[in-house]
Amino acid sequence: MTGTIFNVQRYSVHDGPGIRTTAFLKGCPLTCSWCHNPEGVEPTPEILVLADRCAGCLACVEACPQPKVERADGTPWTNRAVCQVCGRCVAACVRGARKLVGREVTVEGLADELERDRPFYEESGGGVTLSGGEPLMQAEFALAVLELCRKRGLHTALDTSGAAPADVAARAAALSDLVLFDLKQLDPDMHRNTVGAELEPILENLRAIDGSGTETWIRFPLIPEATDARENLRALADTVLSLTNTRRVHVLPFHRTAADKYARLERSWRHDDLPDASEGRAARVVDYLTGRGLDARLGG
Ligand code: SF4
Ligand code: SF4
Repeated sequence: MTGTIFNVQRYSVHDGPGIRTTAFLKGCPLTCSWCHNPEGVEPTPEILVLADRCAGCLACVEACPQPKVERADGTPWTNRAVCQVCGRCVAACVRGARKLVGREVTVEGLADELERDRPFYEESGGGVTLSGGEPLMQAEFALAVLELCRKRGLHTALDTSGAAPADVAARAAALSDLVLFDLKQLDPDMHRNTVGAELEPILENLRAIDGSGTETWIRFPLIPEATDARENLRALADTVLSLTNTRRVHVLPFHRTAADKYARLERSWRHDDLPDASEGRAARVVDYLTGRGLDARLGG
């Protein structure tokens, strides 16, 4: 069995306890406008363009078997509607201005890669994390990787939006030592509008995972003008307090570091002008959640 990943991050200290290696699986069913991993949304590989390296020689345009498209200013542009991700333009570019993001891996191959830093995990209490995209969009692959890593005695964490069929979420939780569960917008209408999915099935998955006893940490992206409204924070606290076992909440302030990624995918980003969440605001949110009786932390 194979899956498609877009990154393997070693020495990660933000995706669970200790030192970890995080595999990022491609594909996500949600449409969060603030997404900081836009290269993980499409399920298949894509072309990235590093415009600052481009010399305008147009060798990539010549190499492309698809209708050749270039801008009026002579710079190449990827016609993604017809691009077959054949990689010929990547090979033709001697400046390294074009890259493929996304590669196919086997379950065993990825588990081998994840296991490489086992000594660091053992020393630090770390392990491996599956993230994305939404890792459960490649459900059977993700489950097989979790199962194999667990068989090899590695601590397994799953970073999920909860947007998955209930049986898949339950099986994944059973194969994970830790679930990092995103909660973003707690108003059902706003959730539908901003995240592009119904809220209730996600909350049902959260309640089931919490009830299963698998350790769960909530991750809350603090997005100015989107998730940081007082009513949303109140609903976030109410929701977590209604769970049986889960009390830990990580507040993840919005930052603009993803802007370059959107440019490399030749996509506009509606948050281009949105300021980073301020440190003061993030600290006040942590204080508020702590005051409500939660184990709230900044970052992570
Ligand atoms: S081959 Fe590379 S340097 Fe030349 S135009 Fe294409 S992207 Fe730019
Ligand atoms: S990957 Fe292939 S089809 Fe797509 S732009 Fe490059 S050369 Fe053209």
